[in-house]
Amino acid sequence: MRNEPIKVGVIGVGHLGKHHVKHYASLQNADLVGLLDVNNSQAIKISEEFNVPFFTDLKLLLEKVDALSIVTPTPIHAKVAEECIASGKHIFIEKPITQTLDEADRLISLAEEKDVLIQVGHIERLNPALLALKEYKIKPRFIEIQRLAPFTVRGTEVPVVLDKMIHDIDILLSLVESPLKTIKASGLSILTDSVDIAHARIRFSNGTVASITSSRIAKEEVRKIKLFQQDLYATIDLLKGLTEVYNIIETPEEIPNALMTVPFEYNNSERFIAYNKPPLIKGDALRMELDNFIRSIQGQETPIVSGKAGRDALEVALEIQQLIIQDIH
Ligand code: NAD
Repeated sequence: MRNEPIKVGVIGVGHLGKHHVKHYASLQNADLVGLLDVNNSQAIKISEEFNVPFFTDLKLLLEKVDALSIVTPTPIHAKVAEECIASGKHIFIEKPITQTLDEADRLISLAEEKDVLIQVGHIERLNPALLALKEYKIKPRFIEIQRLAPFTVRGTEVPVVLDKMIHDIDILLSLVESPLKTIKASGLSILTDSVDIAHARIRFSNGTVASITSSRIAKEEVRKIKLFQQDLYATIDLLKGLTEVYNIIETPEEIPNALMTVPFEYNNSERFIAYNKPPLIKGDALRMELDNFIRSIQGQETPIVSGKAGRDALEVALEIQQLIIQDIH
């Protein structure tokens, strides 16, 4: 276990990368050594804003750090990450881990060889509304997930499945402990050359079914999960930060702290619906992710989303994308 600060660098300081810089600059256990961006004026801007040196040569930055965040556009993740791992550095790589499964597998095996960590930025895993479910025994039978967003050019270098749906695929794989059985998918392009709207129906071997819809052409942003299981229904609003849980119970005493308990009769027996809004532990999810990354390097924690988890979400996303393309043609 190490206690001294971990020397970090950030590669790619655009829309999201500048937030990595902001958090590392104020995390106690991180020593932000430098940043790098192929767009020089952006690098200078962020360097001045946060008073952090900028580098123009990756090799020079690599000589000075233990770990790096990779926040470049997705098609460049694999190339940059490989160079970092090959020189023995731990990496936090934004989602999706890479564009192809081969690239992800290569990074994972290289990281094993070099004995370094890969953590993937599936930030929704740290969404307080999702974390609030931890106090319940979750064994979903049916899950419906919706992620809609107004159109922006950012992210359109990959199809909506790799940009948006992959968040929900990762959440789903973390909630359901069973291998996948079948996937059906459809989708279409509206504004870009790739798929902008996608729907997937996923069946797991244990019978759990999930329906996921993602769109980057919507009037308003929506990020919602509805989860159904024996005697429990939960709605999770990832955007508004609201989790609501309805439990079916035999007596009101089973959940004495319910906000509301309503009786209902079915098949000549009375039971109760107990409604609760579990308290959310508010926090900045990106800061929590980066803190977890640093602590994992120090040996105090393990990455919340490992390279393997990022790779597994990518595998499902690519299969969905392929099914959509087959469906379109
Ligand atoms: P962006 O275009 O705003 O920023 C990317 C930056 O990387 C740019 O400044 C660009 O100049 C720089 N860059 C490009 N090639 C480079 C290279 N070879 N070396 C160094 N810098 C390079 O993009 P963004 O929206 O910040 O997205 C970056 C990544 O973060 C993407 O992989 C995206 O999927 C991911 N992302 C994740 C989330 C999330 O919720 N976790 C949200 C947004 C973006």
